[in-house]
Amino acid sequence: MDQLRKILQKYWGYDNFRPLQQEAMTAVLEGRDSVVVLPTGGGKSLCFQAPAVQMPGLAVVVSPLISLMKDQVDALTECGVPAACINSSLTPGERRRVADDMSSGHLKLLYVAPERLCNEQTRQFLQQQQISFFAIDEAHCISSWGHDFRPEYRMLGQLKEDFPGVAVHAYTATATEPVREDIARQLNLDGPIFHVGSFDRPNLVYRVQSRSDQLKQVREILDRHKGEAGVIYCIRRTDCEELSASLNRLGFHSRPYHAGLSDYDRGANQDAFLKDEIETIVATVAFGMGIDKSNVRYVIHCGAPKSLEAYQQESGRAGRDGLEAECVILHSGQDFMLWRKMQSELTGEAAIAAEATLRSMQEFCGGAACRHRHLVEYFGQEYPGESCSACDVCLDELDLVGDALIISQKILSCVVRLQQKFGADYTAQVLLGSKEQRILENGHDKLSTYGLLEDHGKKDIRGWIEQLIGQGFLTREGEYQVLQLTAAARAVLKGEVTPKLLRPAEKKKQKVSRAETNAWEGVDRGLFEELRGLRRQIAEARDLQSFMVFSDASLRDMARLRPTTIPAFHLVNGVGDKKSTDYGAQFVGCIAKYCATNNLPGDVLAPGTIIKPKPVESTEPKSIPAAQNRAYELFRQGESLAEVAAQLNRAPATVGQYLQGYLEAERITDPTPWVASSTFARIRDAAHQVGVERLKPIFDHLSEEVTYEEIRIAVACLRNQTSDE
Ligand code: ADP
Repeated sequence: MDQLRKILQKYWGYDNFRPLQQEAMTAVLEGRDSVVVLPTGGGKSLCFQAPAVQMPGLAVVVSPLISLMKDQVDALTECGVPAACINSSLTPGERRRVADDMSSGHLKLLYVAPERLCNEQTRQFLQQQQISFFAIDEAHCISSWGHDFRPEYRMLGQLKEDFPGVAVHAYTATATEPVREDIARQLNLDGPIFHVGSFDRPNLVYRVQSRSDQLKQVREILDRHKGEAGVIYCIRRTDCEELSASLNRLGFHSRPYHAGLSDYDRGANQDAFLKDEIETIVATVAFGMGIDKSNVRYVIHCGAPKSLEAYQQESGRAGRDGLEAECVILHSGQDFMLWRKMQSELTGEAAIAAEATLRSMQEFCGGAACRHRHLVEYFGQEYPGESCSACDVCLDELDLVGDALIISQKILSCVVRLQQKFGADYTAQVLLGSKEQRILENGHDKLSTYGLLEDHGKKDIRGWIEQLIGQGFLTREGEYQVLQLTAAARAVLKGEVTPKLLRPAEKKKQKVSRAETNAWEGVDRGLFEELRGLRRQIAEARDLQSFMVFSDASLRDMARLRPTTIPAFHLVNGVGDKKSTDYGAQFVGCIAKYCATNNLPGDVLAPGTIIKPKPVESTEPKSIPAAQNRAYELFRQGESLAEVAAQLNRAPATVGQYLQGYLEAERITDPTPWVASSTFARIRDAAHQVGVERLKPIFDHLSEEVTYEEIRIAVACLRNQTSDE
């Protein structure tokens, strides 16, 4: 494991394992067949990539899509891991080069499509190589019970026979137990170990809203994510086209993606999204498989998904980098009608299963309990804790109506009085006591239910009708979408069951989730934007997807730590050896320039962090110790930061770092040569109240009137005072 940790750090720049990664990697190192189920973004790839680097021989990864293979190989190459793929898109020359690399023992990972792996020639070639193990990605494709069955995966059952003694490991995000068991059976795994992770995605914030004014609702969400990448799913192709055009008219940058576009247009639009040339892709569910863009910050469903399985997968494309992301469903009863129509060809068990999954989705949309809990429990796991602090229900963004039973009874009775022959709008008008001519002509102003909900707004009543449909008490039927009661509605009328009715809070603002607060803590947003720009330039120049250069998580860490030297840059999460060498100078340069222009201190490292210069990659001037010693001398004489920076011809940020070292090394307790005594007194008082563990609370407590640099110096001295006592 120590060796693996070193590999993780050296190639990927990660310090820790994600949940279950260590266990999954142990199975690989021990050569024991395994089935690993982790949610999207859980970090499945690393489970086989890191051991592949450590183990002798070549790991063969089976992957269903050429685009997916190419992305993974590009990302590995960026990290310095020798990897390649063989598929139909390679030229004969490229294929020969891959074969040479394999024979020379240089390659660590080879990506192949299942049908190619099972072709006689490839198999014979591989049988002559030292294969460390087989990793089957998207392994649910082997099971006809999964939602993505691919007949060509079935051939993989041969592997155990063709490569005796070589372990086979299966990876999937698909949750259900029958599928997991089926994967092991179809692959002929030998006593496999099963590792099943939690299906919860705590960094996703779920929101569910009735669709009223779609464009306005979408716009509000996009406004919360200016310049960030996101996916909008629509049920129909025409909706994708229309919504994308409307968004572009409003000044957003989006493109549609659906099966009706030519291959060329689809590819170009997807590419523009992956390379951050546009922020938003408006797509049908045809989009997503094989996309592992890690910085998707929102997924909006303009139309309910057809099942919770589909929702888990589609919403799961948000926040793969572990940072906060928002998932919003904008639903209406019509969506379910549309799905039912689209599934009307199904018969027998398939029809029953489709209806059941649709109903689960409907319950989710109409539900008023924690959405994280709802999803996790649906997939057969227990949700730990009471509140997730990451859904509209737990963030208290929705009001639960107190008298839901009475209101529901009034609505259902009205539908009965209207002889189940009118639609939702009309019913709402009657309940509201509208004087509309049609209502008067029909004599519906004489009904006992006329005006029963006149104290409420039309929008609320319409919303409740949708929720009653969502919870299965009403359905829409026929060409005119007339409302009809279901069997479950009788129990409501008898007062035996109370539906849950939600009302969007009048003036409640969207709250900030805990995940979001944590992920932005200490991050300088201006610098983050600068770094994003630099990343885009590099990605463009190298024809890479931008997240392959660095993930958003790494950029935020940079904008938090603000390293101004290569050794300090190496401390950023996601910076391994190769990326440090390839991009270190550019990013450090950008950070130093930003800090100087904005008078911001650089190198905001956690207390106690020791920067070990890396002799090989270090581009620091060799005279650092001398400069540092000279700086210490000048500090001893009480020189200010600016004077020392000028005398040594070093950036203020670097000199700030020297001062930090000096204060700690010489256990200085008096900061007044560098911080005015009145400012020090204010910082000390604030520190008494909010502690000295972190600088930001002090900064906030002092209403941002004192600079971080001053706080850092004062806190170092305060810490020295306490440890001297
Ligand atoms: P999955 O295949 O399970 O959907 P990925 O393998 O694509 O997930 O990983 C999602 C993201 O998380 C990637 O950007 C990956 O580099 C990152 N990641 C994986 N493991 C770790 C880790 N231990 N520490 C930090 N980031 C990680």
